[in-house]
Parts: sequence; structure tokens; C-alpha cells
Amino acid sequence: MKISDLGEFGLIDRIGKTAPSNAKRAPIGIGDDAAALLLSPSSMLLATTDMLIEGVHFDLKTTDLYSLGWKAAAVNLSDIAAMGGVPRFCLTALGIPPSLTVEQVDEFYRGFSVCIRKRGMVLVGGDTCASRKDFVITVTVLGEAVRKRVITRAGARPGDLLYVTGTLGDSGAGLELLKAGARSQKPGARRLIEKHLRPVPRVAEGRKLALSGLASAMIDVSDGLSSDLGHLCEQSGVGAEVFADRIPLSKELTSVKGLKQQPLEYALSGGEDYELLFTSPVELEREIMSLRVRATVIGAITRKKGMRMVTEKGDVHPLVPGGYDHFLRLRRRGSVR
Ligand code: ADP
Ligand code: MG
Repeated sequence: MKISDLGEFGLIDRIGKTAPSNAKRAPIGIGDDAAALLLSPSSMLLATTDMLIEGVHFDLKTTDLYSLGWKAAAVNLSDIAAMGGVPRFCLTALGIPPSLTVEQVDEFYRGFSVCIRKRGMVLVGGDTCASRKDFVITVTVLGEAVRKRVITRAGARPGDLLYVTGTLGDSGAGLELLKAGARSQKPGARRLIEKHLRPVPRVAEGRKLALSGLASAMIDVSDGLSSDLGHLCEQSGVGAEVFADRIPLSKELTSVKGLKQQPLEYALSGGEDYELLFTSPVELEREIMSLRVRATVIGAITRKKGMRMVTEKGDVHPLVPGGYDHFLRLRRRGSVR
């Protein structure tokens, strides 16, 4: 069987079924943003790893090494944030091609270090190898969480409100501008590009939500709203309704000229925003707002499975997951049909 017949998530499921697991010691294993492992009756070790491959995740013609280092750290921190944890330690494994210079590696670690130092984290190990052609980066982050406060993808209940932090779609639009060679363009375009190159993981927000005990489920938006909401719904066994006109879009995204798609399309399937998507019972809305996590209500969780989008006019359309599947080798466009 070809791997492309299964797709990325089908393959991950298959790996999970083959390899050993232990629900007691590792109550949250494969399938959430990070694993949550039992350290003591009251605390959990969080563990996550992400790989960035030249030519797949980044292009050194458009990405500077400082930003790449920052982003390699940030995408992992975002997964710890999505569990409501505090990131503590990290390891970096590099496959280095002959074309890369020492100065470039220095620059990578400068960006990486600024991102982790801000959060009091330390680099404690890794691995260094030669790669024949492409630069390959794997970062692992270990964090901690209070056992009873870990927020998984699986706790959303019908009637819960659906929230997202910050704005969506900026990174996807920034990538398009970057590819089009728009580096020196107007401030708006530059800010979208910056959001793509150096996303800010919502660690403090995730932590506040966890300690408050107000959120029922959470995931970070790494593949786009349509795709990541799909994961949250699937794991919680629920559906969702999203109000198109409530999705927070930045003024840069809505005002920049020359983008190929509508702003909403970047929000649905652009990906790499690294905002937090979470749910909370409707009666806790005021308390959520008082946490000051810059969250917007964008919809609600429903008993009826599947995702639906309610347009400004009140029409209801199925919301189809977009996002990237490594083995189907395409960025599917999340769509409203
Ligand atoms: P995220 O986008 O939050 O990083 P992914 O979509 O990459 O999550 O992965 C989904 C889940 O599958 C995560 O829990 C991840 O740890 C797990 N996973 C992905 N690839 C593998 C693998 N090769 N072996 C074991 N677990 C994996
Ligand atoms: Mg994630």
C-alpha cells in the first residue's frame, strides 16, 4: 500500500496501533498537541516534537536563519501552550547540509535562543549529523502542567462557545507575499510576513486558561481553522458551527493589496497562525473575557457532528477541512460549500 493512500493522519493512527502505549503512565499519548505523562499524583510532564525540513517547511531563499531558529522553537512552544503547560527544557537535532556555514548555524541559534530565553527555558541536548542536501531541524520541548489542569482536544461539549486568540490568516497571507518577493513592501505586508516568519506562541494565554479551569478543550491553530477545529471536534465527539463574520481578521490582512484569495480563506486554511482555539461553557463567557487572553467568540459546539459555517446573511454551509497533508502532498483549501 502506498503511504499516500493512507495520508498523514491515517499513517499516524496506524503507528499508534502498532506501538505500545500505557494509559496509566501516559494518559495522553499520540493524538493531542503534546503528550501528557504522569510524573507524580499532581504533576504532568508534557512532551512534543516537530520537524522542519528544507524544501518542505521552509526555503532558505526567503527565510533568514534567525527567523528559522525562532520559528523552530515557537512551533513547539505552541503545542505546550495548547495543553495549558509551562515549557521548561528543549533539545535540538540538526541534519546539516554541506552548503550551510558556521555563521548560519550561529544565526539559527541566535533566533532560537531569543525565543526560548524569553520564557526562561534551557537547551539541554540534541543531536548533530551531516545531511546530503537539505537542512533538517527537529526540536523537542519538555514542559510541565498541573495534572488536573491539562487541557486536551477531547473535552468540548455541545453548547460550549468556541474561541480563538489573536487573529487568523496572517501567516498564510504572509507566506504568499514572501514567495512573491514582497520583502521590502509596505508596513502592512511586512507585518504579515513577520507573522509567518516569527510567530508568537501563546504560552501565557494557554497557561492562564489552564489555571483558570475555564476551558473545556484546546488546540493550537497550526494547519488552519477548518482543519484544527476538525481535530478538536473529532476528539471531543462533537460538531461545531462557526460564524463567518466573527472570525478575527487583522487590519493588515483585510487591507493589503494583491493577495490571491479572500481574507477568510487564509483564516480557514492558510495555517501556521499558532493561535489557540478553545472551548468553554457558555455561562463562563464573562470570566473568560476577564482573563484578558485576547480571545474572540467565533462559534459554538453542537451535538450534531460535522462543521458548519454560518454566513453573514445567515446561510448555513458545510465547512470542509483544509490544511496540509504531507503524503497527499497538497494544501487542501478549507472551503464552505
Ligand atoms: P501538531 O500539529 O499539534 O504538532 P501533528 O498533527 O503533528 O500535531 O501530530 C498529531 C499527533 O500525532 C501528535 O500527538 C503527535 O505527537 C503524533 N505523531 C505524529 N507523528 C508521529 C509518529 N511518527 N509517531 C508517533 N506519534 C506521532
Ligand atoms: Mg498542535
